[in-house]
Amino acid sequence: MAILEEDEYNITVEASMIDKIHIYYKCPFCYKLKNGRVVDSPFNTKTKRIYSSAKPNTHFHGSGGDLKNRIEHRVSHCSINDKKGVWLVINENTKRS
Ligand SMILES: [Zn+2]
Repeated sequence: MAILEEDEYNITVEASMIDKIHIYYKCPFCYKLKNGRVVDSPFNTKTKRIYSSAKPNTHFHGSGGDLKNRIEHRVSHCSINDKKGVWLVINENTKRS
């Protein structure tokens, strides 16, 4: 998932999905492997190969029960991007569920 904007304190990303409980986004900083491990790159520096099971990791935050288009700010849950906050853009590309 691409970063739409980034400054010293925050990144801005599009939310991939929203439901009455959560807002979801695919993290531009971390990847999840089949074994559940989270890594900062799909490239394994030890084996010099791409992890075959690496997928962009999804983080989620509370939606407050509101499915409307908007921009929300959240503190990052990411173990790799643990310094910058996240602006979540909920727009017409965000799946409703
Ligand atoms: Zn992450």
